[in-house]
Amino acid sequence: MSDIGKVVIIGAGQGGAEAATQLRSRGFAGEIALIGEERLPPYQRPPLSKKFLLGELPEDRLPFRPAEVYDEERITLILGHRCTWIDRANKRIRMEGGRELPYDALILALGARPRLLPVPGADLPGVFVLRTATDVDAIRPHFEAGKKLVVVGAGYIGLEVAAVGRQRGLDVTVLEAMARPLARVTSPEVAGFFLDYHTRKGVKFVLGGKAAVIKGDGAVRAVGLTDGSEIEADIVIVGIGVDPDIGLAEKAGLSVGDGIVTDRACRTSDSNIFAIGDCASRPLAHYGRNGRLESVHSAIEGGKIAAATITGTKVPDEEAPWFWSDQYDLKLTIAGLFIGYDHIVMRGSMAEASFACFYYQGERLLAVDAVNRPAEYLGAKQVIQRGRTIAPALLSDMSKTMKEIVAAS
Ligand code: FAD
Repeated sequence: MSDIGKVVIIGAGQGGAEAATQLRSRGFAGEIALIGEERLPPYQRPPLSKKFLLGELPEDRLPFRPAEVYDEERITLILGHRCTWIDRANKRIRMEGGRELPYDALILALGARPRLLPVPGADLPGVFVLRTATDVDAIRPHFEAGKKLVVVGAGYIGLEVAAVGRQRGLDVTVLEAMARPLARVTSPEVAGFFLDYHTRKGVKFVLGGKAAVIKGDGAVRAVGLTDGSEIEADIVIVGIGVDPDIGLAEKAGLSVGDGIVTDRACRTSDSNIFAIGDCASRPLAHYGRNGRLESVHSAIEGGKIAAATITGTKVPDEEAPWFWSDQYDLKLTIAGLFIGYDHIVMRGSMAEASFACFYYQGERLLAVDAVNRPAEYLGAKQVIQRGRTIAPALLSDMSKTMKEIVAAS
């Protein structure tokens, strides 16, 4: 795209920051504007439900880079501004308050919005979602030992919050509508491990239970369930998933589904507009289908691909998807996508909290969930990346190191 002089990026999060940095490092000499509605310069979200919530990471360590570095790289960072309109015909965007900016290429890195509980009382003081540093600022004062925390939703963020809650001495109950935690994201075996681990740490689980109402008078007092029971609460954190932020794209007439639809180059249905990260649905090279990944990996990769396409530089090979979650002393690392697996192979020991669960579809290795097993994670990631597989018998042989197994695969 040699006629590009101005790139505007809407969304100053993981993907937006990566795209801006990549444009410069790939030799783009034109104007870059990076616009975000939040107050902080682009920052990491993963610590929000981990060390930042725990109080072990100060706020000034959240941003990827100090704001001045953007100045040095001639990236105009416009914070605290929400974009409200894309004028595709005239290639301009508008921000709240009416300020407009022209673009030659536009990158949408809008992220996702946490789902709210669709029940009465969900707006009572003491009920929170967790997506931004501002959300954590509001939650932290309530994280006092002895307080009753109800986490609604047992996904990764919900379980991370539960772990931090226990580490801070709160009385924690996790309410989950499905029959097991992590139902959307992992196998019953791995979910069972996390259920046991949290239970041993003192977390109470109400599984297959649905919130019907949040009760309280001026502040939350309890979560009422559809079966009439209730769980006492001083604070409620809702972690029931996110919806891709597609409103702006939809209004502009771009093709959207579960995310803003793009091709492999992250181009939307308008060839001058790209979409990356949580808000975008793109072809997943290793799995032969489209998908929307909510992960640091996907946002970084999207930023690189969009910047490569705009600058006409080499597009990086797509990585096998990766993700992680930290809970207590457990480091879960995931490579690949487990959806569609028909059997698993385990290596290591769940009892010792050191194992890897390999997901197969027939003979093909799809994914791995590794708990405190970095070698298994890295090895499987490499193999999936290359489009190869690992013979299950090799994995069961604990006399072989993962390095040897990968070399033989
Ligand atoms: P974001 O980083 O969310 O950035 C989007 C930005 O765009 C936001 O700042 C938003 O306010 C802004 N924006 C939206 N609309 C507008 C507009 N109209 N105008 C201006 N600005 C706008 N991933 C992992 O891989 N591992 C983890 O352990 C992990 N933990 C997580 C823990 C938490 C608590 C959360 C919330 C997420 C976690 N994730 C994790 C997911 C990961 O952080 C996201 O996938 C990643 O941040 C997505 O990047 P993004 O650029 O698409 O969106």
